[in-house]
Formats: sequence, C-alpha cells, structure tokens
Amino acid sequence: MEQINTIRTQALECVSKAQTLSELNDARVRYLGKKGEIQALMKEMKSLPKEEKPAFGAAVNELKQEVSQVIEERKIELEELEMNKKIENEKIDISLPGRQFKLGNKHPLRIVQEELEDLFVGLGYQVIEGNDIVNDEYCFERANIPKDHPARAMQDSLYIDPEWLLRTHTTAIQMAVLEESAPKLPIKVVCPGKVYRRDDDDATHSHQFMQMEGLVIAEKVTLADLKGTLEFMAKKLFGEDKKIRFRPSYFPFTEPSVEVDVTCHICNGKGCPTCKGTGWIEILGAGEVHPNVLKMAGYDPEKCNGFAFGVGIERVAMLKYGIDDIRHFYTNDQRFNDQFKRYE
Ligand SMILES: [Zn+2]
Repeated sequence: MEQINTIRTQALECVSKAQTLSELNDARVRYLGKKGEIQALMKEMKSLPKEEKPAFGAAVNELKQEVSQVIEERKIELEELEMNKKIENEKIDISLPGRQFKLGNKHPLRIVQEELEDLFVGLGYQVIEGNDIVNDEYCFERANIPKDHPARAMQDSLYIDPEWLLRTHTTAIQMAVLEESAPKLPIKVVCPGKVYRRDDDDATHSHQFMQMEGLVIAEKVTLADLKGTLEFMAKKLFGEDKKIRFRPSYFPFTEPSVEVDVTCHICNGKGCPTCKGTGWIEILGAGEVHPNVLKMAGYDPEKCNGFAFGVGIERVAMLKYGIDDIRHFYTNDQRFNDQFKRYE
C-alpha cells in the first residue's frame, strides 16, 4: 500500500509538471503503459497472500483510474494552452495599414498633347508621328533652309554625323508627309513630337521640348482659314472668351509668316506684368506654306497652297496650368506630377 501511495504522489507530480503534450505522453507511458509502473504493481499481486489480493487489486485499479483522469484533465489544459499560443503567433494585426496601390497619372505634356490631338482630329486632321533622328535634307533643305541660311543658327542641334541629326522642329515630319502624299489633295495633318536644340536651359528654354505642327494643303486655302482654325484652337484651350491676333513675322518655310498671340489669361486683355502690359501672350508661329516647299515636295504651287502652324506643347501647358518654369516638366518630381492626377 505504501508503494501505491508513493507511485500516486510521483505520478500526480509528473503529470502536473508536464508542460507540453509530448511530456504528458511520456508520463502516460511511464505510469499507464504496458511496461509502466502501475502494470508492474499488478504483477506483484501474485506474490501477495490470498486475503490481501482483493484490497490490493482494488487500490491499484483506483490508482490507475485516478492517474488516467488527471492525465486526461492535464491534456485538455495543455491542448488549450497550445491552441492559444498558436493563435497568438498567427494573429493578424488589423490595425496595420494595407499595401497601397498607387495609380499613375498622365504627364501634363501628354495631357496637353492629347487635348490638341483630339481637337484637331475633331476637325478632320490625321495625327502623324515621325522619327526623332532625321537627315539634313528633311530637317532643313526641304523646309527652305539651305546649307548657308542664317536661320540654321537659331536651330543648332545635336548631330549624329554631318548629315544626320536630332530633329530641331516637327516640320521634318511634315516634309516627309508632303512628299509621300504628293500630288494627292487635300492634306490635313498634325505632327506632335519631341524636338531638340542646342539651347541654354533656363526658365523658358530647354534643349529638348515638344511641338505640334499642323499642315493643310488644298486648293485656295487662305490666311482667313488659318486664323479661323487657330482661333477655334485658342478658345478650346484657353476659354471661349479668348481672341487671337496675327503679327507679321518671318520663317523660311512660310510666306507670309505670322506670330500668333492670344488674349492674356491673367488680365483678359487689360494689361498686366505677365503680358508686359500688352494684353496679349504669344503662343505660336504660322503662315502660308512657301511655294518653294511645295515645289520641292512635288506639288504645283500654282494649283494648290496651304497653311502651317507650330505650337509649343510646353508653352501651352505653362499658360494653361500657370507653370512658371519649363524645367518642372522634366525633373520628374512626384509632387509636381501628382498635381495633374484625376483620381486619388
Ligand atoms: Zn495680362
């Protein structure tokens, strides 16, 4: 009986000390297993006097049941503990902010370019793009700027070799379109794209910028057609209350040539520091296509004529959005670009 009590004390202690299910299982094997200590007690029963056997047997059974029960209870406790530990480890912190999916947005120059394209597509124009690298002939000669012409000095560019260069104006695209289309009429195209010049970069100049040139060739195209077209464009871009005016100018590829001003968007024509008191802001150059340009492309200037205009996309974007420095377009500052977001 004393032995039974000793085993009981040890078994209960062993079970209560078990910290994991595997430790508890070790305890179960040690006391309740086939070769366990309680089974060993049963074997000892043989050597007892007959009258002591029933009481001893009952005591061992009681011990066996008691140990089984505490093991079962401890098992439930440990299972709960392990489950809690698992839950703790796998806990999702719902207070953490989620991953952000940032939506990109169009660059302001692209917005203005597409707005211009849409406007002219609506007037029946085709949008044509061309190569950034062009040869001297299409960049200058075909635009009525021969090799020794002083206008070349204003359009010094980045040369790949003496014949090939980065285009200095999108006029180079127009010259190719003209030649490809000849002698078919009418031609109504706008040609957007990047152009390059050897310019000192400052608030209004960059060695790379964007242009969009328009070209219309048909029979009896007048300056009035040009003015009507450009006024339509100015109203769409800057507001229906805007007007335009022509000032005489010079370009080698147009005759006559004009600079085109639009009503100042700040003072609406009254005069302010932005428009230097004139009430007008210069937006583009234009003119009637020079007969030499038509002849070189294979057209008869006696039978057809047309107009051309060139808009600086940066210039329009700066006026439209009130941007004071052209370099903001190229520095890739997210704070600048984000201001043109349509969606948050
Ligand atoms: Zn003004």
